Amino acid sequence: KRIPFISGNWKMHNTIAESKALAKAIADCKENKNNADIMIAPSYTSLAAVAEAVKGSKVAVAAQDVHFEEKGAFTSAVAPSQIKDAGASHVIIGHSERRSLFGDTDAILNKKVAAALKHGLTVVFCVGETLAEREADKTLGVIESQLENGLKGFTAEQLSSMVVAYEPVWAIGTGKTATPEQAQEVHASTRKYLSSKYGEDFASKVRIVYGGSVKTDNVDAIMAQPDVDGALVGGQSLVAEQFIRIINFN
Ligand code: 13P
Repeated sequence: KRIPFISGNWKMHNTIAESKALAKAIADCKENKNNADIMIAPSYTSLAAVAEAVKGSKVAVAAQDVHFEEKGAFTSAVAPSQIKDAGASHVIIGHSERRSLFGDTDAILNKKVAAALKHGLTVVFCVGETLAEREADKTLGVIESQLENGLKGFTAEQLSSMVVAYEPVWAIGTGKTATPEQAQEVHASTRKYLSSKYGEDFASKVRIVYGGSVKTDNVDAIMAQPDVDGALVGGQSLVAEQFIRIINFN
């Protein structure tokens, strides 16, 4: 059985002081009945403070994105070595907001994955279909092509620590969660694709987590699905009690 992976994407929220307080509340909570791996992703500005606040706990810190270049004249961009230096061990790559609002293409994401892996960062690679794609029955094909192109050129060994996050775009921040059955269908088909690509052993170990309006009142049903190994939580990861309840899903 795979170890659950419960993660929070704070998006563009929180001052440094707010981030520290939230991180500390999560790190200080001793209740983790599923023995889940826990990750939180604050803004770049709070990375170092949050990493300091969770030191010695089970909570891992992620950046919400990373640039693919090592260093140089790339105004506003942040390099893998810089997020590591700030204390991050993980990085979210390919979030739908990066894809749709900031022009991250599959080709760019592929370079970001390469840069992150080169620096030993654990990649949380996001995929997901839009509502139009779902309605046109293209969901599984879209996910496959995002994985195929985004992860092009890497071996199973290189990707062994990767977590895949399935986040249907229509469920993000909308209050519309995929039903547990809808999530399971995509997770199972994603695992099958990963098996054909990287082998059965890889596919049986890789964690595929669900994101999109995960809440305290729907997490239990989602986590009950056999191919759902965790959650990537937006809104409800900003409130310690809610996120802790999600960590301790039933
Ligand atoms: P919400 O939980 O706010 O829908 O956000 C999901 C998400 O995008 C996490 O990365």
